[in-house]
Amino acid sequence: MNLILLGAPGAGKGTQAEVICDHLGIPAISTGNIIREALKNGTELGKQAKSYMDEGKLVPDEVVIAIIKERLAKDDCQKGFILDGFPRTVPQAEALDAMGIVIDRVIDIEVADEAIQKRLSGRRVCESCGASYHVDYKPSKVEGVCDKCGGKTVQRRDDHPDTIKERLHVYHEQTEPLKGYYEKTGKLKIVEGQEDVKDTTALTLKALEA
Ligand code: ADP
Ligand code: ZN
Repeated sequence: MNLILLGAPGAGKGTQAEVICDHLGIPAISTGNIIREALKNGTELGKQAKSYMDEGKLVPDEVVIAIIKERLAKDDCQKGFILDGFPRTVPQAEALDAMGIVIDRVIDIEVADEAIQKRLSGRRVCESCGASYHVDYKPSKVEGVCDKCGGKTVQRRDDHPDTIKERLHVYHEQTEPLKGYYEKTGKLKIVEGQEDVKDTTALTLKALEA
């Protein structure tokens, strides 16, 4: 199963990707997490990406396409994968097609902009493993500590209110057209994001089966 999760920043793609990853035993690949890891390690890629990310802008297509190409070539992707945060532009989707990768299903998680603002401003992520939490909706068992790996949970720089606005703008402008792109292939399923993570998960798993 080769799967794409679409949706606005903070729609819950990462959270659902983790669930599907456990459920289907295929890796969840987040370009955002890969870039943040590069940033933390001070690599050339990280340096290139930093200014875009901090401003809520997209990293240039060539850069993320190269990242995905390298990642999808690894052994653990051969039985399938979940893409979270890629593609984010039509040229990125075209690049995926040009690699000869067949996508089985695209799940678009829909959440209204106002709800996104609330969610992102309360989001915390693990510095070490990238797991995602929310101070109100999905707190870690111990404040500031990741349930999964014991790492430190922090607020992302791009989760500040002005940057959230810019990211939503970028989403509507550049990423939302992908709905039409995948609608045409008949692979698109829409899931209405629910307030409760578990409810969204149930709908997402149903969309996978149908
Ligand atoms: P979110 O979905 O919450 O916005 P991500 O972790 O997916 O967060 O992405 C964070 C940032 O990383 C984006 O705002 C962008 O700068 C960069 N990024 C991630 N994936 C891509 C992509 N496919 N194309 C361009 N930039 C990307
Ligand atoms: Zn962790």
